[in-house]
Amino acid sequence: MDAPYAKLEQLEPGIARVLAHNPSAFTYYGTQTYLLGEREVAVVDPGPDLPEHLGALSEAIGGRAVIAIMCTHTHRDHSPAARPLADRTGAPIVGCAPLALETVGPRADAAFDGDYAPDRVLEDGEAIEVDGKPVLAVATPGHTSNHLCFSYGDTLLTGDHVMGWSTTVVVPPDGDMAEYMRSLDKLRRRDERVYYPAHGPAVTNPGQYVRHLMGHRMQREKQILKLVGERARPIPDIVANAYPGLDPRLITAAGGSVLAHLVDLQRRGLVEQQGELWTAA
Ligand SMILES: [Zn+2]
Repeated sequence: MDAPYAKLEQLEPGIARVLAHNPSAFTYYGTQTYLLGEREVAVVDPGPDLPEHLGALSEAIGGRAVIAIMCTHTHRDHSPAARPLADRTGAPIVGCAPLALETVGPRADAAFDGDYAPDRVLEDGEAIEVDGKPVLAVATPGHTSNHLCFSYGDTLLTGDHVMGWSTTVVVPPDGDMAEYMRSLDKLRRRDERVYYPAHGPAVTNPGQYVRHLMGHRMQREKQILKLVGERARPIPDIVANAYPGLDPRLITAAGGSVLAHLVDLQRRGLVEQQGELWTAA
C-alpha cells in the first residue's frame, strides 16, 4: 500500500507523526505514532515492536530527550514498542494502566499486550509536561477499560476512542458500550480544535464528528431493539440484518459490537438472553 511508512510527517509545530507498517482490516494503513514537543519529546502510542518502526522513531527523536513514552491503551498495535523504545532512550513509560486481569476475570484476548508494564499510570486529569506544556490524560473507557486520550494544547490524541477512518470496535468483556457512549459525551463537552487518532486522518470538526458517532450508535441500538422485538434472534442473525454487505473479515468484530449493545440493553432491562437467543424484555 502506498502510505508514508517510517517517514516523519510534521503536522503542526510541536506535533509530528510516524506511521508503522502494520496495515489490516482493523488498523487501516497502520498505527500512527505521535511525537509531541520541540526541544524535548513525548512519544504517544509507540506502536507495534517492528525494527523499521523503532528505527524511524529513533531517527525522528534525533538527539532530543524523551520525557515519556505514552500509551492510550494496551492493544497489540499500540503498546509493544514501549519497552524497546524505553530501553533505547531511558524514558519512562507513562499513561494507561495495565489491564488488571487477575481481578476482573478473562477480559483480555490475543489482541492485548500482556507484557505492558508502565512506570507511571496517569489518572484522569493528571498531566506530564513537554517543553513546559502539559499533556493531560482524559480517561475514555469503552474501546478498552484502560483507554486514555491525551490533550495537548488545543489538540486531542484520541488513540482508538475516536478514529478518523472507521467506527471504533467495542467488544465485551473488556469493551463496554455504555462506557464508550459516556466517553464520547465527555469529549462532546470539550473544545479541542482537532483530533489526531491512532488510525486514519485527523478529525478537523471534532464536535460535529463526535455527535455523528453518538447518533450512529443510537441508530444501531434502535435497529437491534427492533430486530429482537420482531422475534428472538441469535447474534449472527442480527449481524446479517444490521450490517448488510459487511466485509467478511469484520463479521466477528460486528458480532462483538452487537453483543456490546445487547449487554448494555440487558443491563437497562430492555432485552433478555435465552441461550443463544436474544429477545425484547
Ligand atoms: Zn485498540
